[in-house]
Amino acid sequence: MASSRLNLNMSTNTDFDTLLSPRLFLQSRLGELPNRDLLEAEENWWKKDGKGIGEAVDRAGTPWLRMFDRFGKRVDQILFPPEYFAMLRRGYRAGVVWRPLDQKSLIPTYLLIYIISHNEPGICCPYTVSLGTAVPLVKYGSAELQGRFLPQLLRKDDSVWQGATWMTEIKGGSDLGVAVETIARRSGDRWLLTGDKYFTSNVGAELAVVAARPDGAATGVRGLALFLVPRYRESGKLNYFIRRLKDKIATRSVPTGEVELRNSEGYLLGSEDSGIYQILEVLNLSRVANSVVSVALAQRAIAEALTFAERRTAFGKSILDHALLHRQFKDRLSMLRAAFALAWESVELLNEVWMQRPPYSDRYHLFRLLAHLAKYWTAEFAVDTAKWNMEVHGGLGVLGEYGMDRWLREAMILAIWEGTSHRQILDGLEVMERKQAHRMLFELLAATIGSTEDLQEMKSRVEQHLRLPGEEREAAAEPLFRNLAEFAAKGLARKYSRQESRNDPGC
Ligand SMILES: Cc1cc2nc3c(=O)[nH]c(=O)nc-3n(C[C@H](O)[C@H](O)[C@H](O)COP(=O)(O)OP(=O)(O)OC[C@H]3O[C@@H](n4cnc5c(N)ncnc54)[C@H](O)[C@@H]3O)c2cc1C
Repeated sequence: MASSRLNLNMSTNTDFDTLLSPRLFLQSRLGELPNRDLLEAEENWWKKDGKGIGEAVDRAGTPWLRMFDRFGKRVDQILFPPEYFAMLRRGYRAGVVWRPLDQKSLIPTYLLIYIISHNEPGICCPYTVSLGTAVPLVKYGSAELQGRFLPQLLRKDDSVWQGATWMTEIKGGSDLGVAVETIARRSGDRWLLTGDKYFTSNVGAELAVVAARPDGAATGVRGLALFLVPRYRESGKLNYFIRRLKDKIATRSVPTGEVELRNSEGYLLGSEDSGIYQILEVLNLSRVANSVVSVALAQRAIAEALTFAERRTAFGKSILDHALLHRQFKDRLSMLRAAFALAWESVELLNEVWMQRPPYSDRYHLFRLLAHLAKYWTAEFAVDTAKWNMEVHGGLGVLGEYGMDRWLREAMILAIWEGTSHRQILDGLEVMERKQAHRMLFELLAATIGSTEDLQEMKSRVEQHLRLPGEEREAAAEPLFRNLAEFAAKGLARKYSRQESRNDPGC
């Protein structure tokens, strides 16, 4: 057992304890962490109490929808066991939403999300969409709207309001310009929205940001606007209706439903013709969160695999000590560090640009490219690693009683929501073509790894690819995008491994 650990350490410098602890792993990559005591307390709570609650919520399946009370009044309540709310509210109290606006930095939120999603990836969705509601309200809401709604979203106790971000309709989430059929009609100082949203995560939230087309606006994405839609009308009646809850294979700690908007009161954020920018800004927050969750989930899957492989024996020794598996562990650990670096660089860049509005700076376009690369690559890595963990467990991996299937089920959504992997590739291509973002990426990488031959080669591959005719450029994009993501991730991993020598907690 000891020799396996030693061998892994020699080349990876990521020891067993660090792998088991998301906080120690973060520390090994980032150095001294802000709010260290808070992160430690969160991690300990998740180990002791939260983990069991998360597992129970997953096993219980879809929460219940109570549409009417006993007296026939429409109430649309989502029913979870009380422990669920204890788990959920903890993150809000810790500051997933209020801290970035209080401290003008997103770093505390993404650190918390990393720690939480090591045990409970799904619950990070409510946190992210709540932040995705507060931020556009701060950036684009009138003083009156902010005064009315912001304090509730930023409360530090259990009376905090939750947010939600609802864009997708039945005709599809990728092509919002065509698929969004919800119409908004002006009515005095507000708007009345009518339409159906097909995927609505954190349904039941007190406040949602909703994409709709003002009546008579242009077709396509340019005609979309973003509205703030409260759960209750000013009269106190329900403002939107939950048609049903989705029966999902995972992320059961976030209720996802279908929502009917029927002359629902809404408040315009920004201007009528700038909704697409605001939608993409909301997606920036959740795509980066998705990358952070993906890496934390992959860390968890590798930790599960390692815990098992150390003690399971075959052919007279631990399976970890067999050369083939041993190499696979080393490779996974090295990929984990690369995936983390890519994800965290997108956190750092977002933290620079999250308050920008159009017209955006070059750093914003660099961020966009990095965020697409990170969202794409880390989600694919999470899925692949979760599947691999099941294989390391052999037959036990597919038995529900040991819960290894959960990490794969949870990972599957990461490559789909917040824009599928295809979307990340195509949007990544676009920001390279139109904003030359790849040139800024190569400058960033040169600062980390120097101007190497590999860098020059990758640079000319990308330039050549961008010169291909449209259809061909798109058809052949995936291998290029994957290689570019991996190249960037490995390059950036050097930047984050510099912390290791100074901050390695006992490796
Ligand atoms: C559990 C869950 C929760 C969700 N929560 C929310 C939410 O809260 N708010 C919200 O707005 N949405 C939410 N979604 C929707 C999610 O964002 C969409 O599922 C996603 O964006 C993809 O849209 P779609 O499912 O309609 O697939 P489609 O857009 O119909 O795409 C189908 C397939 O075609 C591919 N494709 C599309 N266009 C192209 C192209 N040009 N080139 C190549 N391939 C292409 C896609 O990548 C995909 O593989 C949720 C989804 C799930 C599963």
